[in-house]
Amino acid sequence: MVVPVKYNKNGSLSKGSKAVPQEEFEIMMRHAVGKVAEVHRRILKGETGASPYRKGQETGCDYCGYRHVCGFDVKIPGYDYREIDKMSMEEAIQAMRAAEEENRL
Ligand code: SF4
Repeated sequence: MVVPVKYNKNGSLSKGSKAVPQEEFEIMMRHAVGKVAEVHRRILKGETGASPYRKGQETGCDYCGYRHVCGFDVKIPGYDYREIDKMSMEEAIQAMRAAEEENRL
């Protein structure tokens, strides 16, 4: 009723479901927790520059509550967006898996 989830006959999630299997959800959560820890470390080292993403027409600033006070302005030399590519869910999970493997080595 709240989350669109459908199952295939074999019990797996159907492609149109807005959900991921538990194993992929755990990968996403580990990745998010790792990113938060990484950002904390960088801030504690003094890295506080604004570096919002841009993916096509969408940016990290679009709905940001600090937009009018943060000072980020692409018209000022040195300010620019971090361009990121669009990824499918499968590509994103694969990239997170690869990053986990790389961190284990
Ligand atoms: S508006 Fe400023 S604080 Fe908000 S995401 Fe963009 S750069 Fe960051």
